Amino acid sequence: MQQAEEEVAASSKDEADRADEADASAGGDALPSATPELGELVARARRAQQAWGATALPERIEALFSLKRRLLERAREIGDLLHEECGKPVEEAVLSEVLPNADLVDYWCNHVEELLEGSAVDLDPLSYPGKSGRISKEARGLVALITPWNFPIAIPLRTLVPALLAGNAVIFKPSEVTPRSGALVASLFAGLVPEGVLTLVEGGREAGAALVRAGVDLVSFTGSVATGRKVAVAGAEQLIPVSLELGGKDAAIVLADARLDRTANGIVWGAFTNAGQNCAAIERVYVVEAIEKELIPRIVAATKALRPGIDTARITTEAQRDIVLGHLRAALEGGAELLAGGEPDDPTSLDFPPTVVRLTDEDTPLMCDETFGPILPIVVVKDEAEAVSRANASRFGLTTSIWTRKIRRGRELARQLRSGVVTINNHAFTAALPAAPWTGIGETGYGVTNSPHCLSALTRVRFVLEDRNRGARELWWYPYTPALRTVAFSMAEVRGGARFFGRIAAFFRLLGALPKRLFGG
Ligand code: NAD
Repeated sequence: MQQAEEEVAASSKDEADRADEADASAGGDALPSATPELGELVARARRAQQAWGATALPERIEALFSLKRRLLERAREIGDLLHEECGKPVEEAVLSEVLPNADLVDYWCNHVEELLEGSAVDLDPLSYPGKSGRISKEARGLVALITPWNFPIAIPLRTLVPALLAGNAVIFKPSEVTPRSGALVASLFAGLVPEGVLTLVEGGREAGAALVRAGVDLVSFTGSVATGRKVAVAGAEQLIPVSLELGGKDAAIVLADARLDRTANGIVWGAFTNAGQNCAAIERVYVVEAIEKELIPRIVAATKALRPGIDTARITTEAQRDIVLGHLRAALEGGAELLAGGEPDDPTSLDFPPTVVRLTDEDTPLMCDETFGPILPIVVVKDEAEAVSRANASRFGLTTSIWTRKIRRGRELARQLRSGVVTINNHAFTAALPAAPWTGIGETGYGVTNSPHCLSALTRVRFVLEDRNRGARELWWYPYTPALRTVAFSMAEVRGGARFFGRIAAFFRLLGALPKRLFGG
């Protein structure tokens, strides 16, 4: 597996934003469209894909089968690395990034043959005599996979495994914030797939921008809305598909009959796991007023019980910490009430206390933008209708949870939610289920990860028609004669273009014209 070392570009979002402003003021996108080295990697990956895509599917399954064992054997190493590089507690790292991916390998190795199987298309033998058709699913070709830093092992694997099994080659660019995790992911495949089938490209935004314009067949992107838009533009300009998994602003809706302890514990985990650096972190809680006095103190107590550094992760980057601080300060200045946590004593610290605030005014970045940090805002609402309407009033739409004893009521509310995933009495963990689609609405993007549905991006369909008709010509071929015209209009009338008697008359005209036409008239 070849590694292309590229400059790690702007190391913080601030720098990236400043560079973007500089690009804009220079009148265009100053990022390179492609580099010669990348061109060579793409050509090599294309050659490799042709051979890999042509191998029998059982051989590809066999090749990836040992990935599960490799992943599980390296669980401790992965846990330690994610602790160092991202700041996650090791058990959280293994539970979210190792074990679900073992399930992922099992799922795809066991089901991919059935999921990629072709299907016959029914053709009416009278209209289409001698013909049969089949749909097959072919590899998309060369996939560019660009991923973020918050789940740097799990997110790439969720696409790599089905993409490679489907016969694609992949050029994988992990986040510049977590290069060691990216390299570890690539190393898991070493020796399993032929040279060039999986290529690791390291680097930052410049490497990503070059990759999306390097002549690939699909860009599978997970990251921020701002970058996702640029990737979408690059895809549109080249007319290549782009799969986008972007930011979130998940809501939890708590109904009056919720199980209070379970709900409080679930919401606290959903908000603070990975220090809230989760696209599906709970960043808004809407609780109906009937139970505010029972629920809010439980949430506050469960938050205060979290042990720093044991239960809680560190914020991964300084840029992210600054965004979180900014959101908290603006909300407090706008009148939010601090119920737990608050700013760290040392504003330069990445250990940010899990923080709970209560507010009424949602016109603040903490309620409108993605915070991606350990802050849990609570809004008390009159009833569930208000909760649903507030939850839906976001430009994001990844996952929403509903907390209630009445599953049927939860299911009814789920239908009203503008959300790619809805969980009743749980939150967000479904990203770990390989058979369940992970997808969003609005600015969360339209990509689908996991489940058979992700194959619609990773493959393209091909239709093959076989014709065993030995006749010299088809009904609709040349020459165009008066008999053919009669056949065409009569058929339109018989099939619904005329009323009852008109259809009977057309049927007899058809009976007269059809043999004439079939025998050459
Ligand atoms: P980011 O957009 O800054 O970076 C993501 C990746 O894109 C990185 O590898 C980066 O180097 C690359 N990149 C940067 N500029 C690029 C360009 N112009 N062209 C191509 N690639 C470019 O995002 P981030 O800060 O790494 O990740 C956090 C974001 O990811 C959050 O918004 C989070 O919600 C989102 N996310 C979404 C999901 C999901 O499933 N919806 C999952 C995880 C994270």
